[in-house]
Amino acid sequence: MFLTCDYHTHPQGHHLRPYTVELLQPWIDQCRTKHIRSIAFTDHDRYVGGFDFAVIDQLREQNPEIEILAGIELDNDPVTSVDGLRWVEKNWDRLDFVLGSVHYFSGETEMLDRAGETRQIEARGVSGAFEQYIRELEKLVSRGHIDCLAHLDLVKIHGLSPHGYDPSQRFRPILEIAHKAGLAIEASTAGWRKAVGEQYPHTAILQTAVELQIPITTASDAHSYAQLAADYDKLAAILDRAGVTATVTFQRHKSAPVSLA
Ligand SMILES: [Zn+2]
Ligand SMILES: [Zn+2]
Repeated sequence: MFLTCDYHTHPQGHHLRPYTVELLQPWIDQCRTKHIRSIAFTDHDRYVGGFDFAVIDQLREQNPEIEILAGIELDNDPVTSVDGLRWVEKNWDRLDFVLGSVHYFSGETEMLDRAGETRQIEARGVSGAFEQYIRELEKLVSRGHIDCLAHLDLVKIHGLSPHGYDPSQRFRPILEIAHKAGLAIEASTAGWRKAVGEQYPHTAILQTAVELQIPITTASDAHSYAQLAADYDKLAAILDRAGVTATVTFQRHKSAPVSLA
């Protein structure tokens, strides 16, 4: 099993860095090194000022053998996501792929996934935090204008989980909602770089997604081109264990299966 798509990348990292061929070309070079055939640039919607469709077109012309998706990670930031959503609506037809993410609990102004940010989890009780996080996912799905849910069980990032936690049972309702909405979910290696030390989502959640026939993308959430397709060997083994036999590519918001056989 060989994974050839990376649909969660951040060329701008955590700053506003306008797209240029110089900024993006190293990511394409890394695709060649890592045998990635399809990549989506999905910078955070708060850095949409740096996005440039013309640069992506230029990059496509210069690298015809790599499929390059124009994408964005649209989250539930209480301040910036209003403008982010508006931008996505306006540019929907030019975008290939929109990730939807919950980074904020209702009423908070700090991201829940910041390193060491366990206060927000503890304040709600771990079980309550998981419940609220899933409620935010529901709101995100009903808000619309997304193709795929990113790091579905991100709330586990700090390594805390509710007493007697059953991942599949907790996340089945939101998977059913995602299925009804026609969304994909991503299998991400980013959790291996965090305190939890586990991919997103848990293997049991992936199994439930397979059962519901939810399309699955593969992702590294790389914030540097060096992280592109990081730990894909490990991820392939997890997908195998979860019974995932195909992932999907996207183009203009339409998914197409890629067999892993
Ligand atoms: Zn994210
Ligand atoms: Zn991300």
